Amino acid sequence: MPELPEVETTRRGLAPHVEGRRIHTVTLRRPDLRWPIPPEVARELPGQRIDAVRRRAKYLLMDTAAGSAVLHLGMSGSLRVLPATTRVGAHDHVDIALDSERGRSGRVLRFTDPRRFGCLLWQPVGQVHPLLQGLGPEPLSDAFDGDYLFALSRGRRAPVKTFLMDQAVVVGVGNIYAAESLFRAGISPLRAAGKVSRERYVALATAVKDILAYAITRGGTTLRDFLNPDGAPGYFEQELSAYGRGGEACPRCGRAMKQATIGQRTTVWCGYCQR
Ligand SMILES: [Zn+2]
Repeated sequence: MPELPEVETTRRGLAPHVEGRRIHTVTLRRPDLRWPIPPEVARELPGQRIDAVRRRAKYLLMDTAAGSAVLHLGMSGSLRVLPATTRVGAHDHVDIALDSERGRSGRVLRFTDPRRFGCLLWQPVGQVHPLLQGLGPEPLSDAFDGDYLFALSRGRRAPVKTFLMDQAVVVGVGNIYAAESLFRAGISPLRAAGKVSRERYVALATAVKDILAYAITRGGTTLRDFLNPDGAPGYFEQELSAYGRGGEACPRCGRAMKQATIGQRTTVWCGYCQR
């Protein structure tokens, strides 16, 4: 599943190819993805210039003067900029054709999603889509830090891992990044959120930022693939310390890593290094 770093990598890969370009046509090959695609998408976008491609949580927003297309990659979605003549596959659900650039044939922004858990929605100018309301701060923003986590967590009995993965607390910290950040900060994922000290939350916020920023740079190594029909976002699974390593030796102390289910998600941690 694309996590925040892959979505941000997608945004950085797309932006130079679509920002400032005008939308020629929108082709919807099915009326729905996870949710019905609202009629505004096909009605409002043609003729509009793409002013910016932004990210909020794991949503991508393509801003135009008429409103914003809101995209989510779901479990298996991808966005690629391709020559307009590229053959259409079974899972290529949406094409947004861009006006041709000087000396270049036309291109399409193509949304592909085999499992169709992704979505394409519409946000009118001056409004915030309901899915984007009530979200916590971006983890890489200044609003997210140890003091913020400490203040918000007082009195909370939920495990700190569940707290960290709550989108109302902070957006985009999925299972992989929560496990890795808690390992780096030396905090047990089982500890009650309200029982973690301010000092340890400072270490946790720093770990979240460092790990996400690093993952984005790793994703960035495959940016060229966004022009390639076979392109896929970058991952750095082989570099993970905790996630997916249940029963293996802890990279820090060598003892066997523990594994349990917390908040319906598999969690791996070291019972010695993480308290
Ligand atoms: Zn250990």
